[in-house]
Amino acid sequence: MGDGLFEAANKKLFEAGKLLGLDADLINTLSKPKNILTAELEVNGNSFPAFRIQHNDARGPFKGGIRFHPHVTEDEVKALAAWMTWKCSIAGLPYGGGKGGVSIDTKKLSEKELEQVSREYIRAFHKHLGPDKDIPAPDVATNPQVMAWMLDEYEKIEQRHAPGTFTGKPVELGGIAVRDSATGYGGFVVAKLLAERKNLKPSSITVAVQGFGNVGYHAARFMHKAGFRIVAVSDAKGAIHSNEGLQPEKVMQAKTTGGSVTAYPDAKHITNEDLLELGVDLLVPAALENQITEKNAHNINARFILELANGPVSPGGEKQLLADGKPVIPDVLANSGGVIASYLEWVQNNYGYYWEDEEARQKLESVIARAFNTVMEDSETDLRTAAYKIGVKRVANAALLRGNT
Ligand code: GLU
Repeated sequence: MGDGLFEAANKKLFEAGKLLGLDADLINTLSKPKNILTAELEVNGNSFPAFRIQHNDARGPFKGGIRFHPHVTEDEVKALAAWMTWKCSIAGLPYGGGKGGVSIDTKKLSEKELEQVSREYIRAFHKHLGPDKDIPAPDVATNPQVMAWMLDEYEKIEQRHAPGTFTGKPVELGGIAVRDSATGYGGFVVAKLLAERKNLKPSSITVAVQGFGNVGYHAARFMHKAGFRIVAVSDAKGAIHSNEGLQPEKVMQAKTTGGSVTAYPDAKHITNEDLLELGVDLLVPAALENQITEKNAHNINARFILELANGPVSPGGEKQLLADGKPVIPDVLANSGGVIASYLEWVQNNYGYYWEDEEARQKLESVIARAFNTVMEDSETDLRTAAYKIGVKRVANAALLRGNT
């Protein structure tokens, strides 16, 4: 959503590269996607632009979700692919980064058409995918069912089972139970660790969540369970606010039956803009990119911003927030719970051996906690720069060791 995203993503790479004293040619190489794959998907006589961007694979196979959204552009998918490279590296996963997208509005599709788009995507790109090549997963408007169709199409074409080609699959097809809620869970773990560092009790923390899809809902649910007070949530149709606190599971029921969080009875209706400007402790943008920019950053009253979407704060927006003393816990750290759970799923697929759910949850928690603590050790700079310094350094070292510079 919005061109110029890839340039914004690269800005941070160049900044971190300079701080690390990396060679300019190396930084330049790291700024370029390795492969840009494009296709037109034909469904019921209509054609939809589709992309798979393989950004960097110095540390391992390309890894990253596939998004179905009407605003998907090549520029957006390039930015999302680059963010996956840094995210996987910061989490210490043996992956590079990639991302896919189809410019399509799934709200206008029947179930059958959604299946056709998913299968067409694989027919277009299957040669470039595989458990040791490039491993897709869900993202905005894609889910375990979409992964199931994609896996089925891939295995039919390849004539072999290869469950590790996709993560975020249904449990019946080699997925793991913790994956579906993992991005939200990881966000909750980061919020909990932040609260511990700041000596804040969960019950004293108020939270506003922008976006009530898979990520926002689960983050709110886990935070609520731990005692955080969720005072506002929103979706594309509107926002609700209650000083006493909302019950995320009941809000989800209202959304499922009434089509929007605004169908929840016991709350005041506010606008999405109002939600972003509430005086809460924790503002959690969990929807799309560029929600806080230089245009509205000075109106933000939250103490901390926890980025659970990818790219919700623009570079200009972040500059203003930091000047106002409002730390941003960056996407490449805060929303890495999803890809960390994907890694655990992929390991189990490759191994052919499946752990108990609780073991997977503990592993997820310890991986994201280690990444959080490592980023927090760098007291010289803001958290995004600290995270990029770690992520970029590891990728640069891998590229140097390979001699790919
Ligand atoms: N789409 C998620 C993200 O942006 C998860 C990616 C994955 O599991 O590969 O981090």
